[in-house]
Amino acid sequence: MSFEYIQKLPTVDEIKETFPLTDKLAGIKNRRDKMITDVLKGKSDKFLVIVGPCSADNEDAVVDYVTRLGNLNEKIKDKIVLIPRVYTDKPRTTGVGYKGITSQPDPAGKVDFRVGLMMMRHMLIRVIKETGLTAANEMLYPEYWGYVSDVVSYMTIGARSVEDQEHRITASGFDIPTGMKNPISGALNAMLNSVYAAQQPHSFIYRGYEVKTNGNKFAHCVLRGFTNTSGQAISNYHYENLRELLSLYNTHKLQNPAVIIDANHDNSNKQFKEQIRIVKDVLHSRNDDNEIHRLVKGVMIESYIEEGSQRIGEGIYGKSITDPCLGWKDTERLILDIADAV
Ligand code: PEP
Ligand code: MN
Repeated sequence: MSFEYIQKLPTVDEIKETFPLTDKLAGIKNRRDKMITDVLKGKSDKFLVIVGPCSADNEDAVVDYVTRLGNLNEKIKDKIVLIPRVYTDKPRTTGVGYKGITSQPDPAGKVDFRVGLMMMRHMLIRVIKETGLTAANEMLYPEYWGYVSDVVSYMTIGARSVEDQEHRITASGFDIPTGMKNPISGALNAMLNSVYAAQQPHSFIYRGYEVKTNGNKFAHCVLRGFTNTSGQAISNYHYENLRELLSLYNTHKLQNPAVIIDANHDNSNKQFKEQIRIVKDVLHSRNDDNEIHRLVKGVMIESYIEEGSQRIGEGIYGKSITDPCLGWKDTERLILDIADAV
């Protein structure tokens, strides 16, 4: 047998019983969910800023970081909805490497999903309790949704998963806005097909059940740049890219057309400081064209306490162990500048 069954993991009900969400925190999440969906409906003209480390590798550093966002939020909340990235599961380009706190509670230690699931949920709840902000997360494993469905306000389906049927139809059952990223190849039609799939109802096998979903009318696009056939990073945040997406949206039958621009990854070619210029470029395009203004609902920024990245084991507090991030000072300045420009 090539599958070895290591340990039985807590069920969704068991983990929710161990780490319950209080009524007060559930109220915060409901208000935040509404704030974010109002932006996607066009009922609110606030701008979404999804910001935080590439991977949430350490609870104390993540809560410290999100607390800073929470304080900054007081200054800009009339213009911006801040959504902290608390990414607990990481897709990897080659499939190997650190896959997030859920699989490795200690990035330098062994895989332990039982401890990881508990740490992941503990961290996401602590973020709400201590900062009043509810997080964004990425669905790496479709089975995982139940563990986080009551504690996160925004989901993405990553560039390596967005063409996968299981991810698409699972997202059709989410009750929160879900960003479908352009695939690594950059194919815009694949991204729009993914948004379409997530917006439809589906029946399928899920965690040992036949289930039925209603469709997620807040599924939308995320542009993150792409890699061409020669392996070069090509950006897709420019005015022409936004116009092209707008015309594609006009030919597809999709609800709540929207795009978030991810300023890092292949858009910056991981030159993390470029995120500042890229976000400003997007705001310029948006302020110049009413249709683009309506389509571009926000940006995604990779940021942590210390700028750049480190190797696992270096142990620098608040510094990314996956993609390089903007540091806190630059992040604060950029968010204040975004609030002035929107
Ligand atoms: C990320 O958001 O850190 C990430 C892995 O994104 P993508 O799926 O766009 O590569
Ligand atoms: Mn990243």
